[in-house]
Amino acid sequence: MSSYKDVLLFIDGEWQAGAEQRTIQVVNPATEDVIGTVAHAERADLDAALTAAKKGFDKWKSVSAFERAGIMRKAAQLLRERSADIAQLMTLEQGKPLAEAQGEAMSAADIIDWFADEGRRAYGRMIPSRIPGSYQLVIKEPVGPVAAFSPWNFPINQVVRKLSAAVAAGCSIIVKAPEETPAAPAELVRAFADAGVPPGVINLVFGDPATISEYLIPHPVIRKVSFTGSTVVGKHLAALAGQHMKKVTMELGGHGPVLVFDDADVETAATQLATFKLRNAGQVCTSPTRFIVQRGVFGRFVEAFIEVTRKACVGDGLVEGTTMGPLANERRLRALEGLVEDAIAGGAELRAGGRRIGDRGYFFEPTVLVGTAPSARIMSEEPFGPVAVLNAFDTIDEMIAEANRLPFGLCAFAYTKSAKTSHRVAAEVETGMITINQIAIAFPEVPFGGVKDSGYGTEGGAEALDAYLNLKYVSQLDI
Ligand code: NAD
Repeated sequence: MSSYKDVLLFIDGEWQAGAEQRTIQVVNPATEDVIGTVAHAERADLDAALTAAKKGFDKWKSVSAFERAGIMRKAAQLLRERSADIAQLMTLEQGKPLAEAQGEAMSAADIIDWFADEGRRAYGRMIPSRIPGSYQLVIKEPVGPVAAFSPWNFPINQVVRKLSAAVAAGCSIIVKAPEETPAAPAELVRAFADAGVPPGVINLVFGDPATISEYLIPHPVIRKVSFTGSTVVGKHLAALAGQHMKKVTMELGGHGPVLVFDDADVETAATQLATFKLRNAGQVCTSPTRFIVQRGVFGRFVEAFIEVTRKACVGDGLVEGTTMGPLANERRLRALEGLVEDAIAGGAELRAGGRRIGDRGYFFEPTVLVGTAPSARIMSEEPFGPVAVLNAFDTIDEMIAEANRLPFGLCAFAYTKSAKTSHRVAAEVETGMITINQIAIAFPEVPFGGVKDSGYGTEGGAEALDAYLNLKYVSQLDI
């Protein structure tokens, strides 16, 4: 399956074109060639998806959690079996190296398995009553049909967390997946459909994101909204959901602060962080971005970091040996050029990269900026690309203050051999996730989410399922 197929909508168990047969072109970011199209949903298609989701929910909520888990595990297995083919599609449409794409499909299968089992453990509880002969139960019930909006950076993994949690909880879902990378999420949905999820439980649409969200979120059928993307869009959708009293999960942007202290294992820190920085060409919401390095090790850290970025092999993700693909779209290329230019104009020293590579494909050099002024745009705007900003600081107080300077709070990183410093950083950095002396995030069983402008709710860990469940209190007196 190495050639790209046009992608259709999936509504009520059927793959179908949009009501007006409109399509959107899909571009390979490594070549800028149009490789296919994706169907564009109209209002009539959204209405059909809503009707299907309502019907699907009525059926799925009464399927036992045990049976739901069995179907989900089968979907996970199909995804594993198909992961090599799916990786080809993902690399063609998104650009990441094949190994990263296949790894994404395989880790999605783990996420499905984990939520499948977690759905079986969605226990309620019994609260001792004050009244003799009375029982007080807390029951967890699926919240209802979900509207989920996911972005292009992880075409499968941004969908699978929402989809798996919804389906495990007994909800139905309408996924608005990314128009730029539609084939991989369509293959995820196909795995669920082939595994036996009944028609209407999972529906997939593409089209104009704003038109779709503005129609689905207020619609009375939809009871829960989940969005991953930029803070500006997230705030807009959260406000819309708030007006209509819908349950919401928001996984938004970040500006990953990294605190490297004088007592850190500098080489390990530089290697781990630079490798993570270049993953998916830096288009990762948890990417390390603002490097806050203590002055005693600053020079060594900069050199070690640059050394790793120099070894990156940037190219077409389909070519063996490529370790970093292109940016996913032209918008990112222009955004990065602007941010780097602005930083240099403000006095930053460009120590590596800084430019587009070639004139075909959205390739950008791994880039290191040193001594960037706090007023530079890149010090407060998420670069979402392979650009690291390294600055020297003196004291732990200054470092923590810089980490907390921005309104974001998604993921932070720290490297130190001191337990005292570790505890302080863990306690004082305002973030949803922090990893110390390692990079270990995004496993299915651990929380994944931010605070402040990075959003609310979690897409991992036991709490992720709760986001798709309502609590019901039942008080019963035996008579
Ligand atoms: P964007 O905010 O325009 O789009 C992000 C995603 O949201 C896309 O999939 C898009 O289709 C969708 N979207 C946009 N407007 C929408 C609306 N009104 N209703 C529903 N969905 C909508 O940003 P972009 O140009 O695609 O990327 C730019 C920035 O977005 C990045 O710099 C990054 O900060 C952020 N982003 C974050 C993540 C993440 O994982 N948190 C992923 C992708 C992009």
